[in-house]
Amino acid sequence: MQSQDFDLAILGGGPVGSVLALLLARLAPQPERIVLLQTDTASQYGHRPELDPRVLAINHGSRVLLESLKAWPQQAALIQTIHVSQRGRLGRTVIRHHDFDVPELGCVVRYGQLYDKLTKALETSGVQVLNGESAHVIGQDTAGVSIEQGSRRMRAQLVVHADGLAGLEPTRQYTQYALLTRARASRPRAGWAFERFTNEGPLAVLPHPEALGEQSIVWCCSPERAQGLQALAPEHFSHALTEMFGSRLGTLTVEGSVACVPLAMTLRPQTIDGRCVAIGNAAQTLHPVAGQGLNLGLRDAATLAMALRDWLVAPEQMPGAALQRYEKLRGPDRQLTVRLTDLLSRVFTTKLPLIEHAAGLALLGMDLLPALRAPLARHLLQGLRL
Ligand SMILES: Cc1cc2nc3c(=O)[nH]c(=O)nc-3n(C[C@H](O)[C@H](O)[C@H](O)COP(=O)(O)OP(=O)(O)OC[C@H]3O[C@@H](n4cnc5c(N)ncnc54)[C@H](O)[C@@H]3O)c2cc1C
Repeated sequence: MQSQDFDLAILGGGPVGSVLALLLARLAPQPERIVLLQTDTASQYGHRPELDPRVLAINHGSRVLLESLKAWPQQAALIQTIHVSQRGRLGRTVIRHHDFDVPELGCVVRYGQLYDKLTKALETSGVQVLNGESAHVIGQDTAGVSIEQGSRRMRAQLVVHADGLAGLEPTRQYTQYALLTRARASRPRAGWAFERFTNEGPLAVLPHPEALGEQSIVWCCSPERAQGLQALAPEHFSHALTEMFGSRLGTLTVEGSVACVPLAMTLRPQTIDGRCVAIGNAAQTLHPVAGQGLNLGLRDAATLAMALRDWLVAPEQMPGAALQRYEKLRGPDRQLTVRLTDLLSRVFTTKLPLIEHAAGLALLGMDLLPALRAPLARHLLQGLRL
């Protein structure tokens, strides 16, 4: 069996792997020496990626990056105001785009449309894209890494895992499922996104990218409630949703199917292993509260591309120094975002009234004191700048 040689192989062509490939294609003297290996088997949602029902809140920094790569999806709903509240308790805060002098706080896009756009951009990038079975590292030595994808055998100087969860044991099981669907609001508010914390998990109601007045729903709740809700007839589901969310958008009428995803946090203890490095969901898979997973993964990709800039010109050299530089640069942002997301996903679900009340008061405090709100919003908006 013949083996092909590459300078760099990216395992996984989701948004993070694809963005990395596009960035490297601009920096590498020979982009054809970079290969992106994508599996065409079904994702965890049982669909092909271009049909994935997830919507993603993309922050301002990620939007600028995607636009620079000509990979911005055609349909995107603007978020100009974010309303954060706690069900059944005091406390809410409102974050507005003009507080930060930006045209929007973020945008909502469909995972499938983003995936499509990135796939098209890759076609003219010069990077080799090989679709097929799942790709795996079968070993590494001082001279490189051996990879297989079905019957293909390859060698690469450096391997980037951008292959999502990749069968790691979860670091924390949230005992929460996310119900994903879309709903029509009887009194829509253009540009408004809502995050409502309940004692079973957060409920996000976001503007849907495909139609004005439609909302994307990410409802996190206990597994038992999620299964019960998923089995309901649409009118009963709509009633339960409106009851949980309240009347800020009038009534919510669910349109289409309801998907259900179990939620866990998975952190890879070491993101670097010799000549291999993990980024995006392969390095950390987060709870969807506050919509940080992809934004964090895109910052991984941008920083790795920058750290590899010199190595790409002399790929026969060991990549160790560049990988260490990458790890050092990414540490603080990764830790802060992981901790913040984990805290937000659990602080309102402790079933300890004092803690939940204190969390509600913190929201109220943030609303009253812009100085408290600004650092949190700025991190969620842009992440740490390098
Ligand atoms: C309900 C929900 C809502 C979310 N909302 C937001 C949000 O609002 N904002 C946000 O920033 N993030 C959000 N996220 C997180 C976001 O979806 C992920 O962080 C993002 O998809 C990570 O991208 P990735 O490319 O690292 O991984 P993935 O999207 O998982 O892509 C990995 C790719 O690798 C491929 N692959 C897997 N194994 C192999 C293999 N062995 N060989 C080859 N290819 C392989 C897969 O087919 C897939 O295409 C949400 C997640 C969920 C579950």
